[in-house]
Amino acid sequence: MTNDTVLEVKNLKTYFFLDDNKVAKAVDGVDFSVRRGETVALVGESGSGKSITSLSIMQLINRPGRIVDGAVHFNGKNLLDMSDKQMASIRGNDIAMIFQEPMTALNPVFTIGNQIIEVLRKHKKMTKKQARKRAIELLKMVGFPRAEETVDEYPHQLSGGMRQRAMIAIAISCEPKLLIADEPTTALDVTIQSQILDLMMEMKEKFNMSLVLITHDLGVVAEYADRVMVMYGGQIVETSDKRTLFKHPKHPYTNGLLESLPSVDKEEERLGMIKGIVPPAHNFPKGCRFSSRCPKVMKKCFESNPELEEIEFEHSVRCYLYTDTDKEANHDSSQTKERSKS
Ligand code: ADP
Ligand code: MG
Repeated sequence: MTNDTVLEVKNLKTYFFLDDNKVAKAVDGVDFSVRRGETVALVGESGSGKSITSLSIMQLINRPGRIVDGAVHFNGKNLLDMSDKQMASIRGNDIAMIFQEPMTALNPVFTIGNQIIEVLRKHKKMTKKQARKRAIELLKMVGFPRAEETVDEYPHQLSGGMRQRAMIAIAISCEPKLLIADEPTTALDVTIQSQILDLMMEMKEKFNMSLVLITHDLGVVAEYADRVMVMYGGQIVETSDKRTLFKHPKHPYTNGLLESLPSVDKEEERLGMIKGIVPPAHNFPKGCRFSSRCPKVMKKCFESNPELEEIEFEHSVRCYLYTDTDKEANHDSSQTKERSKS
């Protein structure tokens, strides 16, 4: 963990223990880190394990789900070792989260102001008066022109976009080091989406936060991310800086996602949609988890799941197209080779 690492997730495994002894491996050995001031995008189709990854970081996994392995280092401490009380003092304070649907994240019976005040009073020991003043400042900051009135309004009095602005005000109220935004604009009109994302980036700069941006939309990644983790079947299948990922994608799944991006010069959207569906997490294929849909599938892809391997500096991919095929195909002969080398 280097000095500028804010978050380091190591071998995270979160499983759901279902009826009939089925185990859904929603997150199955995820590693990544987030550096200071950086925006890391987690991208993948619905069901690939993005939300469960973020909820695991926040320790918000409920039965039948359980974190079965791994570590989540934040500020030099493993969050997975912390008590509920310690976690409660970190959540909303050092790490904040924004969800897809602001109406479910906001409490409908409290005013916007009271919800900000509650967070400030819990973590920052402010008086009611100080917290109310700060709440109004925060609402102004996130774009409420009549913040003195909005502070006393209820969530249902706001539009979807304005509710998400209010969520952002709550999330940044304690100036967290890390903000996790899970599909923050998916429920919003397209015209509002970029306003909300721009606001998040503005706040990120202002408070020097790091951002984990969860999205199924590579268009959002292209515009806002520094680094990208492509998730599939509860695992990272490719990771690199954004430019490399868009210029030199390696994994057939990444390629499929890129082909399904709407482009300016094409009439149809979603041209090359990846065929088939994400396999259910309790029933992944035996080999590579993408093998059932992969246009470049090979025999060995049905036999074992490849490891995530660094193929260039800070560019890793989980795919047999890029790993030493000889070694993988026949374990015994590779051992012989090893021996004859020495
Ligand atoms: P994403 O956010 O990428 O759409 P999720 O992280 O929500 O995906 O879910 C990943 C997988 O975890 C799902 O496909 C599902 O199989 C499993 N899962 C999530 N929540 C539950 C749950 N409460 N019970 C059982 N399985 C779950
Ligand atoms: Mg999700």
